[in-house]
Amino acid sequence: MGQRHGHREDAEVSETELLALVCCDLAAIVRGRSLAAEQLAEHLHTGIGWVPANHALTALGPLAEPNPFGSTGDLRLLPDPATRMRVSPSAEAPALELILCDLLEIDGRPWECCPRRFLRDALADMEREFDIRVAASFEHEFQLMRDDVPVSLPFSLEAQRRAEPFATNVMDALTQADVRPERFFPEFAAHQFEIPVAPANGLAAADRAVILREVVREVARREGMRATFVPLLNPDEAGNGVHIHISLIDAAGSSLLFDAGGAGALSEVGERFAAGILKHARALTALTAASPVSAMRLQPHRWSAGAVCLGRQNREALLRLPPLVTLAGADPAAQLRLEYRGADASANPYLALGALIRAGLEGLRAQLPAPPILEEDPAGLDAAGAERFGLGALPASLEEALGELERDEAVRAWLPPLLYDAYASVKRAELAAVSELDLADVCRRYAGVY
Ligand code: GLU
Ligand code: MG
Repeated sequence: MGQRHGHREDAEVSETELLALVCCDLAAIVRGRSLAAEQLAEHLHTGIGWVPANHALTALGPLAEPNPFGSTGDLRLLPDPATRMRVSPSAEAPALELILCDLLEIDGRPWECCPRRFLRDALADMEREFDIRVAASFEHEFQLMRDDVPVSLPFSLEAQRRAEPFATNVMDALTQADVRPERFFPEFAAHQFEIPVAPANGLAAADRAVILREVVREVARREGMRATFVPLLNPDEAGNGVHIHISLIDAAGSSLLFDAGGAGALSEVGERFAAGILKHARALTALTAASPVSAMRLQPHRWSAGAVCLGRQNREALLRLPPLVTLAGADPAAQLRLEYRGADASANPYLALGALIRAGLEGLRAQLPAPPILEEDPAGLDAAGAERFGLGALPASLEEALGELERDEAVRAWLPPLLYDAYASVKRAELAAVSELDLADVCRRYAGVY
């Protein structure tokens, strides 16, 4: 992500403009502390204070009890200057300016629960062991919570025009924030929209996911609305997915996923990587579909992900090979990517992408056999067909997913023990907090959070 120093010269930047130093926690909530922007230089190398127990805060407010941190310890939020972004002020609000931080011990050692570090380590292992770099992008869906305009037809131009000036303002703000939005379009559900963004290296891609959510919510807030990325707003409607697109590339940026002769044009490296993700898929969902309402989105025929399998141009598959356009001489190699459809915005993007890479790495190390590629609706297969395609159901609840995470020793081993304990405490506390509510109420509760 580029620095946006250009904005520092803006006549409109006031001396007291606040710059937020933030991190994305285990519940995927962005938290931090702000200072006057011109004081950043004093804190660039030593950071500002932070508390370990903040990583045991649930998405519903209260601290998870018990949690492994308690009331002791101190950390530093260390800003990463490459992530600094700013969205200009509007009539309604001052500028939104933030910088993403790593979490360090006070003596400068990395903190074992820092999500950015988790992803950075996974990327480094891919590069060191297999000389593979990861490019990724997070494709987000969200809904505007409003009843002042009627619901328009899915994908209709009218739906987009009724969302103005939000649509134009949000694309402008995302461009200012260097998130590189590619498109804006209405989706299937009421007031639902999607914004795909350009791929970036793995860490920057996760940074962009964090920033995109904040910018979208900021622009909606300025217009008197709430934008929610809740995985499911209405149990009877389509959910809001976060599809994670992964490309494997070499040092020169050429695709290592593409092989024109391979099934689905997938190389052996790509097949092994995909097989690793499918092998650990059930445990992975504890990290990628991480709220009590997430599992309900991942049901057959919601066009999210109906089964654990690899599919080509198949929106019911957990892992999908998107189309390779050859029209007008377009290069298919550059387009090939693996689309993981099982994530949503309750997932910390660093943990989600880091875990997918760890799973792929296991597939590469074990040289797992190529997964078969499904081209039809998995729900239509009989038992023999399901077995042939290695189909499995996704966990039916977060509780089931956490059980899978606990049992899958490989996946657990990727997480430092303290991180695992903190994560499990946060998620179990959230489950307990909503256990008496019905699904529609839980969806509403989480719509106010994500
Ligand atoms: N809304 C769907 C989901 O929850 C995705 C639909 C699509 O864009 O394919 O993942
Ligand atoms: Mg979509």
